Amino acid sequence: MITRDTIEEKLSLTEGEKKWLANPSSLPLLVSDFFFSLIDKDDPEDPIRRQVIPQELESKVEDFLDPLMEVSYSVTERLIHHYTNRCALLTTDRCFTYCRHCFRRRFTGTSTGQISQEQIIEAVDYLKAHKEVKELLLTGGDLFTLSNDRLEFLFRSLREAREDIIPRLCTRAVATYPERFDDELMAIVKRYSYGAPFVLMTQFNHPRELNEKSINAVSRFIDMGIPAYNQSVLLKGVNDNVDVLEELSNKLMYNRIKPYYLFQGDQVCGTKHLRVDIVKGLEIEKELRKRLSGLTMPQYTADLPQGGGKVILTENYLKEVHEDHVVFETPDGEIRKYPR
Ligand code: SF4
Repeated sequence: MITRDTIEEKLSLTEGEKKWLANPSSLPLLVSDFFFSLIDKDDPEDPIRRQVIPQELESKVEDFLDPLMEVSYSVTERLIHHYTNRCALLTTDRCFTYCRHCFRRRFTGTSTGQISQEQIIEAVDYLKAHKEVKELLLTGGDLFTLSNDRLEFLFRSLREAREDIIPRLCTRAVATYPERFDDELMAIVKRYSYGAPFVLMTQFNHPRELNEKSINAVSRFIDMGIPAYNQSVLLKGVNDNVDVLEELSNKLMYNRIKPYYLFQGDQVCGTKHLRVDIVKGLEIEKELRKRLSGLTMPQYTADLPQGGGKVILTENYLKEVHEDHVVFETPDGEIRKYPR
């Protein structure tokens, strides 16, 4: 693992990176050896490097620590209930690699540790009493940093209480630490693969993150019948480019991972330098929609501040509404009438 203590031996740092090291922000520097090996060490602007090696700009205090107001929607110590039909469980604050764009900085890498058995029971009791909850996001941090024992306790408790809830397995470890998905872990997942289906939620942000090892890790879930959906974050200098996103989407779909969301970066402290202007994001979305099929097109989405919830961002093709017809602009800029 690459840490703050070892980074200077491993990488020739830029001035901005050195300044962060002298005055670090709260999110620790931790990069798995595997993810670090993907970095082109000769390129200071390498898209993998930009995601995991902090820069001075990160230490700027601006924006919000909790823009989605998760704390105010917390119903137990680890369970967030914002949307009626789904909850999110913060299973741990740990990750195998910390992403500099992490939207949950208030919690990630804070040494809170993995969820306790008591906290699991508390969350499960809440879910038993709230039948309107149909899906549970097992998130963090990274779910798969939990020990196998704790993971098994979590899955067992959940299945015994609510077999009808769809558990979303939220993880970036398939990209950052694919060796985690060994036979022992996959046997645990298989043991609890009954009732409402597990769904794997990945985060691949750049085509280079899809390589033999990460694809094999995801394939272990898919071959077990667990579908995979990808949630990318639109990041400046990483993937704010139509060609890169087109390649990413096609590569995801080719490897049986549905491109699901392309998130606008949240207004989180220390991430502004990685955030893309939303107007540029819309231009990228418009061009991407021309190049990709419906299957491969992710939904460009913003999570609105002050807990406003998710909205889909797309070009407004509907231009005029009349009594008997509406007027559209086609993706190529032509005008078409459509009867009401
Ligand atoms: S893996 Fe997820 S939780 Fe962990 S640092 Fe990255 S974005 Fe944040």
